Amino acid sequence: MVDAGAVVAGMPDAGAPGPGMTVLCATCGVESQEPLPETCPICADERQWVPLHGQRWTSVDVQQREGMRIDVVELEPRLWALTSEPAVGIGQRALLVQTAEGNLLWDPLGTITDAAVEQVRELGGLSAVVASHPHMFGVQCAWADALDARVLVNARDASWIQREHARIELWDDEVDLLPGVRLIRFGGHFPGAAVVLWEQGSGGAGSLLAGDTIQPKPDRASVAFMRSYPNNIPLSAGVVRRLADHAATLRFRRLYGNIPGQLVEDGPGAVARSADRHIAWVTGEHDDLT
Ligand SMILES: [Zn+2]
Ligand SMILES: [Zn+2]
Repeated sequence: MVDAGAVVAGMPDAGAPGPGMTVLCATCGVESQEPLPETCPICADERQWVPLHGQRWTSVDVQQREGMRIDVVELEPRLWALTSEPAVGIGQRALLVQTAEGNLLWDPLGTITDAAVEQVRELGGLSAVVASHPHMFGVQCAWADALDARVLVNARDASWIQREHARIELWDDEVDLLPGVRLIRFGGHFPGAAVVLWEQGSGGAGSLLAGDTIQPKPDRASVAFMRSYPNNIPLSAGVVRRLADHAATLRFRRLYGNIPGQLVEDGPGAVARSADRHIAWVTGEHDDLT
C-alpha cells in the first residue's frame, strides 16, 4: 500500500465531502479508494498497461485546480456526449440518454466538474450511471453521488470494482433501465461487457451504445471485437460469432463507441461483415496473403 498524500500533489484533507475527494488512477481514469494499491489492478491486467514512469494517482480536486473542462454536446435528439478537456485516462466520451422518466449516463468520464453536473441537471438529472465494462468505470460513484443516481456493475466484473460504494448494484444479463433503454450483457472483452439498446435512437430505428464491447473503427464501416484493444489480443472465432449473432437479434441502426467520434451508421452491416472478416483471419482463411 502507498500513502496517497505522497503521490497525489495537493490531495485535500481526508474526510472532506464532495467529488473533489475522489481519487483515481491517472492512466485508466477509474476511481479508487484508500488505502491505494501499489499498482492499479485494472492497468496491471493484460488488457491495459502501466506507463513507463510507473503508477500515478490523481484526484478530481487536482483536475479541477488544473482547469478541467467538460463539454456537453448533442449528438442526435435526446443523446448527448460528454467529453473532457484535457482527456482523462482512456479518453472516453460519456453518453447521456434522455428519456421522459429519467436519464442514463453511460461510460462515465474519469472526471467531474460542478459546471457539468449543473448542465446534466438541466437535462433532467440522472437515474442511472452504468459503464460498459471496468475500463469505463471512470468516477462513476462521484457522478452518482452528485446527481443521486444508481450505479450498476455487472456481477461478473464485480472483482474489478476499485471503489466500494453503497450506490453500486450488481446485475446479471439484462436490465430495463428506463423506457426503451435496455442494458444487455454481451461478454467478450470482459465477461460482463455490456451494450445499451436505445430503441428511440437513430430516428426511431434504434441505436446501440456499444462501449468497446464492439468497437467502431476509423473507416466508419467496420467494428472490432478484442480482448485487449491497446495490446491487440483478439477474441476467438467462436466468441466473435456469438457476439455478432447476439447483435443480430437487436433492432438498431447506428452503433456508437466509447471514444469521441466513434460511430458507424450501418451498425448491423458493419457487425456482420466485420465478424466474418475477423473469423476468416483468425481461422487461417487468408494465410496466403501473409
Ligand atoms: Zn488504472
Ligand atoms: Zn476496454
